[in-house]
Amino acid sequence: MKRVRRKILLFGLTAVMSVSLAACGQKEESTSGTAGTDTTAAVDTTAAEGSDGDAAAGGTYTAGTYTATAKGNNGDVTVEVTFDADAIKSIEIKEHGETPGISDAPIAKIPELIIANQSLNIDAITGATNTSNAILNAVADAVNQAGGDAEALKKVEVTANETAGEAVVKEADVIVVGAGGAGLAAATSAAEEGASVIVIEKNAYIGGNTVRTGGGYASCDPEAIAIHEMTDGQMAEIEGLIARETDNEVVKGWQKKVAEDIEAYKAEGKTQVYDSLEYMALQYFFRFSQAADPELLYDLVSKSKPTKEWLGELGFEWTDSPSLLLGDTWPRWFSSVSAHGGDGFISVFTDAIEEKSYNVEIIKEVRANELLTDDGKVVGVKATASDGTEYTLNANKGVVLATGGFSANKEMLIEYSDGRWADVSKLQTDNDPAMVGDGIKMALEVGADVVDMGHLQLVPTCDPKTGDAYPFIGTGTNLYVNKEGKRFVNELSDRDTLSNAALAQTDGIFYMVCDKNNSGVGEDGTTYGGQNIQDLIDAGIVVKADTLEELAELLGIDSAAFVETIEKFNEAVKTGSDPEFNRASFGGDFINPNGNPGIFEAPFYAGARTPSAHITKGGLKVNISTEVIGTDGNAIPGLYAAGEVTGGRTVAGLLEAMTSGRTAGKTIMGK
Ligand SMILES: Cc1cc2nc3c(=O)[nH]c(=O)nc-3n(C[C@H](O)[C@H](O)[C@H](O)COP(=O)(O)OP(=O)(O)OC[C@H]3O[C@@H](n4cnc5c(N)ncnc54)[C@H](O)[C@@H]3O)c2cc1C
Repeated sequence: MKRVRRKILLFGLTAVMSVSLAACGQKEESTSGTAGTDTTAAVDTTAAEGSDGDAAAGGTYTAGTYTATAKGNNGDVTVEVTFDADAIKSIEIKEHGETPGISDAPIAKIPELIIANQSLNIDAITGATNTSNAILNAVADAVNQAGGDAEALKKVEVTANETAGEAVVKEADVIVVGAGGAGLAAATSAAEEGASVIVIEKNAYIGGNTVRTGGGYASCDPEAIAIHEMTDGQMAEIEGLIARETDNEVVKGWQKKVAEDIEAYKAEGKTQVYDSLEYMALQYFFRFSQAADPELLYDLVSKSKPTKEWLGELGFEWTDSPSLLLGDTWPRWFSSVSAHGGDGFISVFTDAIEEKSYNVEIIKEVRANELLTDDGKVVGVKATASDGTEYTLNANKGVVLATGGFSANKEMLIEYSDGRWADVSKLQTDNDPAMVGDGIKMALEVGADVVDMGHLQLVPTCDPKTGDAYPFIGTGTNLYVNKEGKRFVNELSDRDTLSNAALAQTDGIFYMVCDKNNSGVGEDGTTYGGQNIQDLIDAGIVVKADTLEELAELLGIDSAAFVETIEKFNEAVKTGSDPEFNRASFGGDFINPNGNPGIFEAPFYAGARTPSAHITKGGLKVNISTEVIGTDGNAIPGLYAAGEVTGGRTVAGLLEAMTSGRTAGKTIMGK
């Protein structure tokens, strides 16, 4: 597979002042055209007029231009600040590695608000706190360098702020709430059928959790997966699933079909990894608590390949060789060759919308609050922009809720907890802070039903300090070692098993261990996630050593136990047999698809990890056409839902977002 690095994408830079990004190779995106419409209200500076003369708060400055740096999300953010004797005159962001899209709003707005108010008492932009604070901290440093008083500026009242505009009323065939993967898939598929579409997004950037993903898309493609040889462990898994007890007649039918296939497979002397729609559905059914509605689940897996092909037609460049992903035993995960992670699952739609001149308007920083109904039918959405402007959006044909899950809403996690996790109140999350269940709350108000709401999936491999999935070194299918230097789980177990095992370790922490070949660190010193490895080492997120003993010492764990663990693991990798934990496969993952997870060649790396709230599998009850079902068992006219806001499939992720989003757009347009 071609190695890829994080591609720089901008999702509508909302600049209303000149901020130079030339130094980091980015350029401002035009906000003209239908896609990416910019609703950022210009800052009303009238209240701050004369602030130039009010230099007392920050003191006087030694006029000139000063450079300062502060830590952002992904390393240093460098600013260049120009002062005259009385005021901060300009702020340029000279260099940064912040996440494209997410960092656009703070880069555009924070400097502008600092200058308009001559204050450092500026609120961070929601969802981009670290980038906002990095800019504020760097400017504070520059203020002090110029002989001013940054602490005093942090107390200056902010008077120049965004002001609400006149109420806006708009109309389109389809109103989509949420510009993540599912929302944009719905918008694009509806537009393909000739619809006019308005998408509203409460964040200052589009992409939601979808841009945060590792970019793995699960697809059932028996021909593609056959590049892999089947292991004994995989065959044992198939035979185990065929034999599992179930009362569900549909699931029994899948077992029968798989049993027949495997009999034929053996008779024909095949050796490659087997896959089929029935097997993929069977795996997911048993892996995810047998909670799925079999009809929804089968519909989902049967759409996996056609939807992948649709994305390809829209311009998504797929890897041709599927591989493993954390929490799975089947190498059926595809990703993009041209963009790291989830970027490509958003840009494929924005690019297509722009190229094909679809009638799709994407409005950022507008949050839906309420569904509008007329005689039981959902006919629109009430929303509020971040500057307070009220929006009424009327839908001629339907409203699609695509607001994602609720992993970032502690109250909801606690309220709906089904006890599968001991104390959800203690969990951190790797989600975008926007994932608070808005769509579920709005739909409940109009009589929607919900299913499986306590079904929270944790992902075991997050940063113990922040709860974030990133940054990291290696990949989720690498070796896991606890603080006692011991391996404690089959790393290819499902995520519930991995998370339970991780939480049972000392302090709930373990180390993901990798070597030169499976660390994902390229020759340029950047990780698969695009971070500089030295920055991660300096930040204490990763340790690096030339010997295993040194690595153990840096981690503060018993060296003899650690080395013994590595030796045993390497032996299992070499022989393909893992008597201790029964790992089914030692094949490659995304970042080293042709390699293995053995710890053979220095430098060696490790990073501490712990589980975080990741995906809420429950949500709005829907049918296979994505209509939202009410508590009376009937579809609510005019209301559709796609992606993680829904429940019933138990699979969630990009597969659900892409397939259900596409279906929603088509259904509304009668296709
Ligand atoms: C770190 C991480 C890595 C992941 N990796 C993978 C992976 O590799 N493969 C995989 O299959 N899955 C992965 N997932 C899961 C996957 O990201 C999600 O299940 C999927 O992206 C959900 O898509 P969605 O469109 O439903 O929601 P999202 O992409 O989250 O989009 C929802 C959007 O709705 C907006 N919104 C919410 N409320 C409102 C409102 N009231 N008004 C307006 N807008 C609103 C949000 O701001 C957001 O932009 C990962 C998740 C995380 C957190």
